[in-house]
Amino acid sequence: MSLPKFTYLAPASLEEACNLLGKYQGKIRIKAGGTDLMVRLAQRALKPEYIVGIRQIPELATISFNPEEGLRLGAMALLYDVACNPIIQEHYPMLARAAKSTATVQIRNMGTVMGNICNASPSADNSPTLVAMNATIVAVSPAGERKIPIDEFFLGPGRSALEPMEIAKEILVPAPLPRSGVSYQKISPRSKVDIAAVNVGAMVVVDEQGTCQQARICLGAVGPVPLRASTAEEFLQGKVITDEVAEQAGALAGTDASPISDVRASKEYRRLMVIILTKRALLEARHGTSI
Ligand SMILES: Cc1cc2nc3c(=O)[nH]c(=O)nc-3n(C[C@H](O)[C@H](O)[C@H](O)COP(=O)(O)OP(=O)(O)OC[C@H]3O[C@@H](n4cnc5c(N)ncnc54)[C@H](O)[C@@H]3O)c2cc1C
Repeated sequence: MSLPKFTYLAPASLEEACNLLGKYQGKIRIKAGGTDLMVRLAQRALKPEYIVGIRQIPELATISFNPEEGLRLGAMALLYDVACNPIIQEHYPMLARAAKSTATVQIRNMGTVMGNICNASPSADNSPTLVAMNATIVAVSPAGERKIPIDEFFLGPGRSALEPMEIAKEILVPAPLPRSGVSYQKISPRSKVDIAAVNVGAMVVVDEQGTCQQARICLGAVGPVPLRASTAEEFLQGKVITDEVAEQAGALAGTDASPISDVRASKEYRRLMVIILTKRALLEARHGTSI
């Protein structure tokens, strides 16, 4: 794989990295694991003069959890780390499942969850669960720090709300609410090692009687960005999630999707899979509420 010429910069601190982004604005790209970036360079889809590698920055490798604030996932947390971290497996098993279903073991040992999000592919494996769990992206730039709710993060294929001089520093995932459950479902045309044809993340919160108080459903690969299934979410409000209710919500999610046909699947197949995977996700998430 031949690459265009560039100068590689390896700052040792976030401040240094931000300054480099400011200094070479418009000519520089951030590299985390490089599993998306290097492919785009090889295809000549991008030709930056400078690449800033963020792997050496110690504060970006953090994974920490506390029951009040939830999870902080540093930008350099590898897909492998997230899939295998015992704290994530215990408190956020669907984040671990999504990371584990991304690519191959070799790619998971290089690529990051943050890179997967910042790449802003509508079919990315880690977006639906993070949207369902209402995560926040913390971005830093020479101007300071800001928090971007994940619902406002994705602007279109390959486009995020990050400004050119911003580095996404960490992902904040709220602590799991009492009586809440989450699910991640994926279908891809080949074996498990493939980009999703459709993926769905769902989180439900129920009251003591099992009535749905909150539902967040995110559909991947069926629109220009990971899409909230808002019609299905509204329908679930105040209902007990029985098999029949989950089926009806799945059908409504089908109307929330706006799929296209491409090499991976036809739009008809995608819509059908949204219906089926949403039902599955809701039933698994309901099961997780332990009601
Ligand atoms: C063979 C193969 C199979 C794959 N299979 C899958 C799959 O099944 N599912 C899937 O979802 N993806 C898949 N991918 C895509 C890719 O591996 C993931 O998207 C990965 O998580 C990207 O992370 P990274 O750290 O390598 O990002 P990089 O390639 O380093 O960066 C990706 C993009 O995000 C930007 N970026 C990265 N980090 C930051 C940051 N902290 N702040 C601001 N911008 C940042 C970069 O500038 C770049 O534009 C596959 C890729 C390959 C090569």
